[in-house]
Amino acid sequence: MAQADEQPAIIEEKIVRVNGEISIRQYSKGRFLGKGGFARCYEFTSLESRKLTASKVVPKASLTKSRAKQKLMTEIKIHRSLHHPNIVGFEHFFEDSENVYILLELCTNQTMNELLRRRKRLTELETQCYLVQVISALSYLHGHRVIHRDLKLGNFFLSDKMEIKIGDFGLATKLEFDGEKKRTICGTPNYIAPEVLDGKQGHSYEVDIWSLGVVAYTLLVGKPPFETSDVKTTYRRIRMNAYSFPENVPLSESSKNLITRILVTDPTKRPTLTEIQAHEFFNQGNTIPKTLPPSTLACPPSAS
Ligand code: ADP
Repeated sequence: MAQADEQPAIIEEKIVRVNGEISIRQYSKGRFLGKGGFARCYEFTSLESRKLTASKVVPKASLTKSRAKQKLMTEIKIHRSLHHPNIVGFEHFFEDSENVYILLELCTNQTMNELLRRRKRLTELETQCYLVQVISALSYLHGHRVIHRDLKLGNFFLSDKMEIKIGDFGLATKLEFDGEKKRTICGTPNYIAPEVLDGKQGHSYEVDIWSLGVVAYTLLVGKPPFETSDVKTTYRRIRMNAYSFPENVPLSESSKNLITRILVTDPTKRPTLTEIQAHEFFNQGNTIPKTLPPSTLACPPSAS
């Protein structure tokens, strides 16, 4: 049966061995999972191992500019070197004449964007549970000198077991040495740190800490702190640090304190990941579950 997008349902990977022997690995292309900047993402099943993965399909036609190609190579190089339970697993990549295929660990429960759309906002316990996982992944990344630079709900995937998996390393960078500063302007408007917008001083790991603060606010309040209807105004608000906590949303003092400490304009004044983990928001004497039940994809957890 012809597919709506006219692409073949079987994708072939040509493997050339060192001795020159050629073999073919086949994948059947299944369900469409979503689309991003350049990529369309599908479920792929290896016909050999029957293993199911998510495959990002990037048309080579979109990689004609050397910058785009370089970006994809950087994404692959960084992502394939990462191994952490809260980072989308990188399985494999290959190409044919039409596309580059990036095979990733399949996350069956969409992203936290869809979760928040259904739920409006999350409880503090859920927010603690998710943030603990994000912080664990971030500690690993920063420990390997990788800055993600695009942390946002749409890049937090949920596995079948409801674990968070950070994905999309398209804007990530690996520092060559500890004090190195980056200058490229990148990120997603609502989550971008003020020093990235400023551009003069360069930026580093603290941009991910800022985004973590924006994520925390967004999960608890239901919308990002600096959101407006146009990007310019959002940027102005970020530069002026103009945000507030809505009165109609009940928030604990500790959650507001954590967010206020993180969302400070001067990156050197932001808490470290270790300080964030030690903050009272995560240490209230309650047990934070490792994961939440799938029922919380649609409804708040029962208060037992
Ligand atoms: P881009 O880098 O082009 O923005 P993304 O990484 O954001 O592409 O992927 C685009 C979409 O594909 C995502 O929004 C999501 O719907 C889907 N997707 C990406 N990776 C996975 C995955 N590992 N498991 C399930 N779906 C995924």
